[in-house]
Amino acid sequence: MDNKSFREQAHLLVDWMADYMGEVENFTVKSKVQPGAIYQSLPELAPSEGEEMSAIMQDFNNIIMPGITHWQSPNFFAYFPANSSYPSVLAEMLTATLGTQCMIWETSPAAAELEERMMNWLKAMTGIPAGWHGVIQDTASAATLASILSARERFTDYAGNQDGPAALTGLRVYCSSETHSSIEKAVKIAGLGRANLVKVGVDEHFRMDLPALRRAIECDLVAGHKPFCIVASLGTTGCTAIDPIAAIAELACQYNIWLHVDAAYAGTALVLPEYRYMIEGIELADSFVFNPHKWMFTNFDCSAYFVKDKEALIHTFEILPEYLKTGTRGQVNDYRDWGVPLGRRFRALKLWFVIRSFGIEGIRKKVREHIRLADWFRNEIIADDRFELMAQVTLNLVCFRLHPKGIDDIKDLNRLNELLLSKLNATGKVYLTHTKLNNAYTLRMVIAQTYVQERHVIAAWELIRTMAEDISG
Ligand code: PLP
Repeated sequence: MDNKSFREQAHLLVDWMADYMGEVENFTVKSKVQPGAIYQSLPELAPSEGEEMSAIMQDFNNIIMPGITHWQSPNFFAYFPANSSYPSVLAEMLTATLGTQCMIWETSPAAAELEERMMNWLKAMTGIPAGWHGVIQDTASAATLASILSARERFTDYAGNQDGPAALTGLRVYCSSETHSSIEKAVKIAGLGRANLVKVGVDEHFRMDLPALRRAIECDLVAGHKPFCIVASLGTTGCTAIDPIAAIAELACQYNIWLHVDAAYAGTALVLPEYRYMIEGIELADSFVFNPHKWMFTNFDCSAYFVKDKEALIHTFEILPEYLKTGTRGQVNDYRDWGVPLGRRFRALKLWFVIRSFGIEGIRKKVREHIRLADWFRNEIIADDRFELMAQVTLNLVCFRLHPKGIDDIKDLNRLNELLLSKLNATGKVYLTHTKLNNAYTLRMVIAQTYVQERHVIAAWELIRTMAEDISG
């Protein structure tokens, strides 16, 4: 392909993109393809000769598109979203065009300095302490791994890196039973052993039970273990429960334990002054992560990780081969030292485009609207006596189930709600997912897609009610 045909194809693609984004709400939200169908449609071997872009696009439309689940549909209410937005997509086009690899400052000074500035903007926008340091990671999982590794290294005076497993005996990490699975994964990768992750119980609102945490730490100390890290959740995956950060932070300080706050999804709500209470006490914590790629309208991947002790982070990860030595070291941020990968995409650009295009007020307006719509949906659930709420609604996730009169056995209710969910998703008109809360099969309605409007939520509720009628007879 030469520059002239690239230009032609790019114009065609932009039209495709704008058409798609304009019509995405009409697509079947959750792909209906059977396992293996796409794989079988693809040739066994790569073509030996180059093909025309028109042929590639034809196959893209015919083979790939049917296997796409439409995360950007306003009828997508599943998981937590992986949002994008018009300005974010535009920035991603530039990022792909520049094709920069931003491992160190010298490999693209603008990328490093824009990243530093964006992280400082996000601190001011969300109330993260001004003295902390931010870096973009690919995911919250990677940020949490960075946090646990930094905590491990600081606690062992960097002997973990030097001596390996011998230095890690007895180290303990604490989280709640509702904490995201990425914490367990990080504990395994960090060489600590799953048995050294202590999952404490939760209260009636699925928040970490503080007295249980205190007891676990104190018992472990008596038994000769070494508590070194707590991971608190600001917005659990199941039902966006908010752990009591301030009280946990005080406990962490008392025992000199690193506190990491996982706000992967809910952190975006901190742009609203009325939700800042959620991070009261954050100045006593050590690190914090939230994903603009979930609820801040920025394409995946973009996870904002903030740390109080930058040196602990850098000292944990830095390794300096000859070919990466530069004359600017120490004057600038070489982000390769701030996480696992050496190579890094230019992720700050899309944040810059999103924040400037929406403005802080524009972001606040959307986030508030999502919370308002969730409140509307919550009230509908309460008003309909066939349904019940399964957890407090803290933001814009409503956990609910169908509970018709006369059916009270948990197994029957679980089966009924599983059926309801599969029938809803089979319509192709909405996509919701589930969790289990106290063993009860629970439907999750997450109202957070960038371009979701009231009419989408009303239509989803109509569909849920009709389907409930059909299956409960
Ligand atoms: N933490 C919480 C609370 C989450 O809900 C999720 C994913 O939904 C994660 C961490 C992991 O996020 P990521 O996919 O960015 O690793």
